[in-house]
Amino acid sequence: MNTAAYIHGVRDVRIGDIPAPVPSAGNVLVDVLAVGICGSDLHYYKDGGIGAAVISKPFVPGHEFCGRLVADVETRGLQRGQLVAVDPATPCHHCDWCRQGHHNLCPKVVFIGAPPYNGALTHQISVPQNSLFAMPEGMTPDQGAMLEPLGVCIHAIDLAKPKLLESVALIGCGPIGLGILQLLKLSGVGKIVAIDPQAHRLEMAMQLGATHSGDSPSAAVDHTDGRGCQLVIEATNSPDGLSHAVMASSIGGRLVLVGIPDGDAYSPVTAAEARRRGLSLKFSRRMGDVYPRAIELVEAGLVDVDVLVTHHFDLDGTPEAFQIQADEQPGFIKSIVRPSGA
Ligand SMILES: [Zn+2]
Ligand SMILES: [Zn+2]
Repeated sequence: MNTAAYIHGVRDVRIGDIPAPVPSAGNVLVDVLAVGICGSDLHYYKDGGIGAAVISKPFVPGHEFCGRLVADVETRGLQRGQLVAVDPATPCHHCDWCRQGHHNLCPKVVFIGAPPYNGALTHQISVPQNSLFAMPEGMTPDQGAMLEPLGVCIHAIDLAKPKLLESVALIGCGPIGLGILQLLKLSGVGKIVAIDPQAHRLEMAMQLGATHSGDSPSAAVDHTDGRGCQLVIEATNSPDGLSHAVMASSIGGRLVLVGIPDGDAYSPVTAAEARRRGLSLKFSRRMGDVYPRAIELVEAGLVDVDVLVTHHFDLDGTPEAFQIQADEQPGFIKSIVRPSGA
């Protein structure tokens, strides 16, 4: 038997036994070294689910993770002991949507750490060999775990197609927002107005290159001579995310929504505010095949993922990790659980 952290229901995380994993054909065992707690994990904790994905029995979250191979993987030329990050998503590759290039939207996806599939908040896990990404020399387990949220950021930027020197409002400065901010800097946009209710997050946004900050969407208007921003990227957990994005945008603006709203619903949007601006709206979900770029960005020092990790816990500390994240404790940005305790 092993141990794992289970979400039993709303605000109920407990450590319990889990059978030792047995790798099926095409899988390999990985000793888990670092697991990020995601905002999406928190929805299972706060709401008991995300939309139709409801917890019907206790499940083990954890889809942002890095570990060490327990055995050689000859098909991939990887050796036992190699540090690997794991793409949690295995799309079917055969449905119409996969064939059209929308792997991230495959309805038949097997996603490690989303019900009914148990995740990585345990000591050892069996993962598909095809989902492994070898970590370059010198990269840390924490950085490996951060590749998944960084991948979400890359996908959002791919959808946003930022333009040189345009004005951007970034609504929500959690780990995803702050990752997106670093990618915006790389893409050569102009003004970046960071918006978040929490002062410590705005401080970090300014450190990472935001040009202005404020605690409400009106900041995006105030800092653009009343025009609003041409690109708005929303990465909050707030039902107001959509309406705030509309209010922060300029005429002809583009909106990309990355956040998952609490309660799986947006608060009402004033139709005229959106219509009269002629806005374009994209919803970002998970990611495409972005791991290689995520690795390269971290390895080259172009993105700092370490600065986003403010808290560490061992596996037994997982209930506390969820609690402080749900409570939006000041100073908190991102937790990593290290099941081996190291
Ligand atoms: Zn995540
Ligand atoms: Zn598919």
